[in-house]
Amino acid sequence: RSLVALRSVSKTFSNGTVALKNMSLDIREGEFVSLLGPSGCGKSTALRIIAGLGEPTSGAIDWPKANYDAAGRAEPEVGFVFQEPTLMPWATVFDNVWLPFRLRGMSRSAARERVMDALAMVGLEKFGNAYPRELSGGMKMRVSIARALVTRPKILLMDEPFAALDEITRFKLNNDLLRLWENFGWTVVFVTHSVIESVYMSSRIVVMAARPGRVIDDIAIDAPFPRS
Ligand code: ADP
Ligand code: ADP
Repeated sequence: RSLVALRSVSKTFSNGTVALKNMSLDIREGEFVSLLGPSGCGKSTALRIIAGLGEPTSGAIDWPKANYDAAGRAEPEVGFVFQEPTLMPWATVFDNVWLPFRLRGMSRSAARERVMDALAMVGLEKFGNAYPRELSGGMKMRVSIARALVTRPKILLMDEPFAALDEITRFKLNNDLLRLWENFGWTVVFVTHSVIESVYMSSRIVVMAARPGRVIDDIAIDAPFPRS
């Protein structure tokens, strides 16, 4: 079933840059979609529009009615992971992951179980009291993933999340993310400019080209690679 769709979305920035032209994309529940393309082809712009972090110049974002919550909230929940972990350095790992709940007025104690569950998912249950500076780059990225998942969003949006990590850490995180995806059945949209990463990670690869940013191919991969 369709979770979110872009319908002929175009985006022209105020300086005249045409970042996206007539992009249509239907994301179905449970898919792991890679948005693959060279720098500047509009991947981040498309992801930000899905997240509600930017308005299209024309076209529409379609969240089917079934995806609205019982309260009829107009903005279905997304989790967003940026290229940098963007953690608060003065706060513990626990408090960083608590943030999305805190912003909704939920106390530490009320959120404790959910925060600990999210930390366990990324293998950091013992690091709740640590500070970001005590963690490796890969661990900081795991905290950032836990923060994006803690509210159990319908869709996890990741903007080149592992691009700044060394190859070995990146490979470990690729595997861990896939294991989580296989176990929890989330919908993931994963922006990357790495062909290898997209082939390794996805159930579907949407290939984009630049000037103007547009979709040039859409490849279904029956099953992700076996990785035991
Ligand atoms: P990608 O994520 O594929 O590297 P982006 O979506 O970041 O591509 O950018 C697409 C195009 O839009 C690029 O040419 C970029 O320079 C331009 N762009 C992105 N953000 C802005 C902005 N805020 N103002 C003007 N141009 C922008
Ligand atoms: P990265 O998370 O960047 O891949 P490593 O896994 O190499 O980094 O970990 C760096 C250090 O942190 C190592 O000393 C490792 O023992 C420790 N470490 C990383 N993850 C955990 C974990 N889940 N539990 C305990 N120690 C960990």
